[in-house]
Amino acid sequence: MRNVLTPILDPKALADEISGHHFIDGRLAPPASGQLFDVLSPATREVVGHAAKGNETDVDLAVGAAAKAQGEWAKVPARQRGRMVAEVGRRLAQHVEELARLVALETGKAIRTESRVEARVVSDMFEFFGGLGSEIKGESVPFSPDMLTVTVREPIGVVGAIMPWNLPMMLMAMKVAPAMTAGNAVVAKAAEESPLSALRVAQIAGEVLPAGLFNLVTGFGPECGMPLVKHPRVGKITFTGSVETGKLVYAAAGEKLIPVTLELGGKSPMIVMADADIERAVDGAVTGMRFTRQGQSCTAASRIFVHESVHDAFLEKLKAKVDAMKIGDPLDEATDIGCIISEPQYRRVNDYIALGKRTEGAATHACSALPTEPKLRKGLFVQPHIFTGVKNSSRLCQEEIFGPITCLIKWRDQDDVIAQANDSKYGLAATVWTRDLKSALNATRRLEAGFVQVNQNLVVQPNLSYGGVKQSGLGKEASLESMLEHFTHKKTVIVNMA
Ligand code: NAD
Repeated sequence: MRNVLTPILDPKALADEISGHHFIDGRLAPPASGQLFDVLSPATREVVGHAAKGNETDVDLAVGAAAKAQGEWAKVPARQRGRMVAEVGRRLAQHVEELARLVALETGKAIRTESRVEARVVSDMFEFFGGLGSEIKGESVPFSPDMLTVTVREPIGVVGAIMPWNLPMMLMAMKVAPAMTAGNAVVAKAAEESPLSALRVAQIAGEVLPAGLFNLVTGFGPECGMPLVKHPRVGKITFTGSVETGKLVYAAAGEKLIPVTLELGGKSPMIVMADADIERAVDGAVTGMRFTRQGQSCTAASRIFVHESVHDAFLEKLKAKVDAMKIGDPLDEATDIGCIISEPQYRRVNDYIALGKRTEGAATHACSALPTEPKLRKGLFVQPHIFTGVKNSSRLCQEEIFGPITCLIKWRDQDDVIAQANDSKYGLAATVWTRDLKSALNATRRLEAGFVQVNQNLVVQPNLSYGGVKQSGLGKEASLESMLEHFTHKKTVIVNMA
């Protein structure tokens, strides 16, 4: 039999090899119902694989395997657990190329600008959290001289992790790696649009970890995600996805009174002051808006507030930069921008473009050229669009589009622009671009967002707490303190020595 750890660089061959399975109790497992669903390449609309259509029975099997494994895992010294999690990261590093190609195939994200970057960060997340094993520690409390009073951090048990499709491997790693290092077992549920890359990560991890510790089920939200949330043996849910689904998950978890972490949507503002380094800010808008990911990012800089004195220059430079980007085959190294994930999302994005075009006073700037290759004829490609002349109160500026659409809004008064930036139900990320320290600090203090940056637009970084306020979510991820707060219970122990 073929060694699971031999990379398969042809993504269709790899998709074929793992298609039609969950990963339960240390091995690929067919769905209990025998039902599969198609996995499509959004670039060609061809069926490139099949995924197991998970249901309550599959979830129950996965949770049972996780519960069984967790008891033994919790007894392993924390540092040793961490070593094994870090070893998963090192193994994944040897699979960056195959994972990058597989995720490019199933999500349509360009290999050079997005997919390979994601595959590298996945490995890094496992290595980072694995290194934190010895940090799973509590405190001593000076409660009384003749009492030894300490807190200890204990694992929760079985953690359910539900992921979206835009970063299917990385967002999973951000949940699974800290949960396991902290002594939990995990049942992860991949998004229906991108099940195969997550499955392959679980399979590679399964070569290092004890059977049952990391299980992955695939399937649809109501049939496969919700049974995971409701399962009586699942003690914690960590969810990344839309606000609407997040609310359903929160309500169902509330019935069981279990803790929940929610990483939800965003409509992130970028504020460009009159004194900003415009070249740098324009580069920041290109990366911040995640044009290379077709804008399919929760932190996308989809509201760019530009001071009126530099607005027109900023627009011209931004258009030129985006125009120079190549839209094309996600698996082609020359491509900067791939395609939209699915037909419903493609229709949604185009509806917003149509809305922008008919908005009174708005100007539309469509950038870059759509691909013309015959094999991509049916692909879900959309030109990046920049709208000017729209109000912050408009639907384009208030609703999360999750596509390559951003709005440039002119401003004059600093208090007013901060108020506009905060005038949103979301509060995930924000950036400020200025050379003036006082303006920068004033803005960082007043902006209602969980992740605020000045003169840069970095994506999630290991060890920097990441998560939103308002309807962008609850709780943080990616850091040591998020691991302690969200994947352990704090127990207080008092020993009376009198
Ligand atoms: P979604 O909410 O439709 O789906 C997310 C996951 O939830 C999928 O696995 C889906 O199958 C599952 N699900 C759907 N209905 C469910 C139900 N009733 N019960 C349990 N699970 C259910 O989101 P999506 O379209 O996959 O992803 C896009 C959204 O994710 C955007 O709103 C985006 O902002 C958000 N997102 C947030 C972050 C962040 O870190 N804050 C990161 C990436 C994406």
